[in-house]
Amino acid sequence: NLTDRFARVVKTMRGEARLTESNMQEMLREVRLAMLEADVALPVVRDFIAKVKEKALGEAVVGSLSPGQALVGVVHQELTALMGGDLGADASELSLAMQPPAIILMAGLQGAGKTTTTGKLAKWLSEGSHVQYGRKTGKKKVAVVSADVYRPAAIEQLKTVAAQVGVEWIPSDPSQKPEDIARAAVDYAKRHHFDVLIVDTAGRLGIDEAMMLEIKALHTLLNPIETLFVVDAMQGQDAINTAKAFGDALPLTGVVLTKVDGDSRGGAALSVRHMTGKPLKFVGVSEKLTGLEPFHPERMAQRILGMGDILSLVEQAHQNIDVAEAQRLATKIKSGDKFDLNDFKEQLQQVKKMGDMGSLLEKLPAQFAQAAGQMQSGQAEKQMRRTEGIINSMTPAERSKPEILKASRKRRIAAGAGVPVQEVNRMLNQFEQMQGMMKQMKKGGMAKMMRAMGG
Ligand code: GDP
Ligand code: MG
Repeated sequence: NLTDRFARVVKTMRGEARLTESNMQEMLREVRLAMLEADVALPVVRDFIAKVKEKALGEAVVGSLSPGQALVGVVHQELTALMGGDLGADASELSLAMQPPAIILMAGLQGAGKTTTTGKLAKWLSEGSHVQYGRKTGKKKVAVVSADVYRPAAIEQLKTVAAQVGVEWIPSDPSQKPEDIARAAVDYAKRHHFDVLIVDTAGRLGIDEAMMLEIKALHTLLNPIETLFVVDAMQGQDAINTAKAFGDALPLTGVVLTKVDGDSRGGAALSVRHMTGKPLKFVGVSEKLTGLEPFHPERMAQRILGMGDILSLVEQAHQNIDVAEAQRLATKIKSGDKFDLNDFKEQLQQVKKMGDMGSLLEKLPAQFAQAAGQMQSGQAEKQMRRTEGIINSMTPAERSKPEILKASRKRRIAAGAGVPVQEVNRMLNQFEQMQGMMKQMKKGGMAKMMRAMGG
């Protein structure tokens, strides 16, 4: 797993008191191996390593006070740039500023996740739930239509999805031509003043001339403001090749990488931008219709380096649950106020309400996520219940001042929660790590934060 390997490299790097040309070479070799193992395309890896090396030497990493940390900083910067960070913070935004309806055309192979993503996007836009600190996109009036006339169930599938997310489904029929469906749908969306029309299309099992001609014709007819290429992350490097083929045929505006929840290697996100020149705009993180996340290169880079992704975690909390509470936690995390076990407990409760444990745990810093138990959701939930049980067995005073917890109190708590004392200790250790990390976030500075996460 890319994050595990990077986290290891980062740890080694940080540990180096002196960085010499030769041990830097060695670490870069590790980074290179980690990327190759994650199935990142070779040209991307080469380019990346060359850039990091150049910067590291240029920025006098070798002579700096904490060369290991400085090198991690360079790696982080370059990872961010590699994934499109140079496009600015809003690179993942959809551009919908036009005379409505703004048309979004979905392209991709069969099974890539087009129909599912159409539903996810429709939900995301119609709820106006995209929260970037302080800024919400307004709620959009969204309609969807399927131009997939080849598989009889495809149109029905979109109908079901649309009903689930509460957006309008414009009927179509397998006996119609895709272009006629598209034309009629645009007309309908105009007459009924829809802000956004998402057009789902048919895929094939592989790149195929007829499919390309059809999607090109649809593109010409629709003149969409966004043409999103949907691709399955589990295809690894094949995903990139397919993206290139579609990119040659269509003026894509962005890529949606689906099923990143099932992709243990994680290389596609790193290659997409470099190999196609198109920004990765969203990632699909679950088959559920809530499982879509805007892609943030900087945060992804943090995640890959095992530094966690607290901001996305908080945003996800913000979207799916108690907004006021999530905001309070977000502010607290950001301001670095003393984060005590009461907060931790509330955070656990929030997380529990959200259901989708796998994608949440991935956002915690690697060390903490590992400590919190298996990434597998069943395990994680069980672990969380135990953690909660332990916190529940504490008095309010103990929760806000865990430092008063000496042996006898711990024994009482363990008995109350029905767990061995060691587990209480383990939980408190994890909590301390997390607390330390949050303190460091307040003080700011990447280097400090990373030192804190070294545990
Ligand atoms: P299409 O042929 O491109 O329209 O693909 P579908 O939308 O029908 O999706 C194919 C399969 O992939 C379905 O079983 C979806 O539930 C599943 N799927 C789509 N996106 C995701 C995702 O982000 N994560 C997971 N785990 N499954 C997904
Ligand atoms: Mg489909």
